[in-house]
Amino acid sequence: WEKAEGTRKEERILVSVRLRPLNAKEIGKNDPSDWECRTNTTIVFKNAHSERTMYPTAYTFDRVFGCECNTRHVYDEGAKEVALSVVDGINASIFAYGQTSSGKTYTMTGITEYAMEDIYDYIKRHEEREFVLKFSAMEIYNEVVRDLLSTDSSPLRLLDDAERGTVVEKLTEETLRDRWHLKELFCVCEAQRQVGETSSNEMSSRSHQILRLTIQSTAREFTGTGGSSALLAAVNFIDLAGSERASQSPTAGTRLKEGCHINRSLLTLGTVIRKLSKGRTGHIPYRDSKLTRILQPFLGGNARTAIICTMSPARSHIEQSRNTLSFASCAK
Ligand code: ADP
Ligand code: MG
Repeated sequence: WEKAEGTRKEERILVSVRLRPLNAKEIGKNDPSDWECRTNTTIVFKNAHSERTMYPTAYTFDRVFGCECNTRHVYDEGAKEVALSVVDGINASIFAYGQTSSGKTYTMTGITEYAMEDIYDYIKRHEEREFVLKFSAMEIYNEVVRDLLSTDSSPLRLLDDAERGTVVEKLTEETLRDRWHLKELFCVCEAQRQVGETSSNEMSSRSHQILRLTIQSTAREFTGTGGSSALLAAVNFIDLAGSERASQSPTAGTRLKEGCHINRSLLTLGTVIRKLSKGRTGHIPYRDSKLTRILQPFLGGNARTAIICTMSPARSHIEQSRNTLSFASCAK
C-alpha cells in the first residue's frame, strides 16, 4: 500500500473543550455554574472573585463549546476534518477525555455516528474508487484488552508486526456490507460491554473503548493523473476512562476507596500526547501502556488527532475541571 503523505505539513493536535449543561442533581443541590464560553475559542471562570488561587481565569483552545451547543456542532467544528482524513489514506484518532459523568460517552457516540454517515456519503459520491470498510471494537480494562465484537471475553494479546506495528491478535474485523450493518455492530458492542458487570457505570469509569473503522480504497481505473491508486487507513473513536483515574494526587477519600487506583493507560496517554504536541521529538513512551501501544500507529507521524475534553460547569467539580483544562492546555 502506498501511503498518502505527499506534501502535507505536520499538524498539531486539534483540542477542544465541551461544557455540558448542569444536570438535575447539580441544580437540585444549588450547585452553581462556574464556567462560560465567551468566544468560540475561550472558556472563562465566571466567579474569579470567589476563588483566590493561582489558576488562570481564561483558557484558549482550538474550539470551546458551551452547554447550548449540540453534538452536531461539536462534531462539525471539533472532529469532522480529522475523521474524514481517513478517506484520503491518513490515520486518525478522536478522543473524548474528561471526568466520569462529564459527557464523554454522550459526545463520542454522536461524533462516531456523524462521522460514519459522512464517510458513507463520501463513498457514494466517489464511484471512481472502490472502498472496503472493516470495523473492529475493543475495550481496555485494567490493562486487559477484550474484543467487543466477540462473545469470547478472553484477553487479547498484543503482537509486534514488522510492517503494521503493534497489532491486537485475534481481534475480530467485520467487513461491512452497508451502514445498517455498522449500526448492528454498534449494538453488539453495547451488549458486550454490559456482560458480566455488576455496575456498568463503575466499569465505564475505568475502561477505555476503541471503535475502529478501517478503509481500503483503490481506483477502479488507472487514470494516470496523480493520487495514489491504493489507500489504507483507519479512524479510531476512543471513549476514555474517567480522567479522575489520571489524577497525580488523589484526595484522601478517593485513595481509600477500593479500586480507585491510577489508570496506567490514561496516565501514559497524557505523557504521549504532551510529548507529541511539543514537536514529536525524543523518546515517546508508547510502550508503557496497552492503550498507547494499540494506538501508536494512529498517533504521531502523519496521523491526525482530535481531542474533545468534556467537563461539568458545576462548582462541586472544580478540581476535576481544572485538571481537565490543564490536560487540554498541555495537548494543544
Ligand atoms: P461520561 O461518559 O463522561 O461518564 P456521559 O456521557 O455518560 O458521561 O454523560 C453523563 C450524563 O449526562 C448522561 O445522562 C448524558 O446523557 C448527560 N449529558 C452529557 N453531556 C450532555 C450534553 N452536552 N447535553 C445534555 N446531556 C448531556
Ligand atoms: Mg461514559
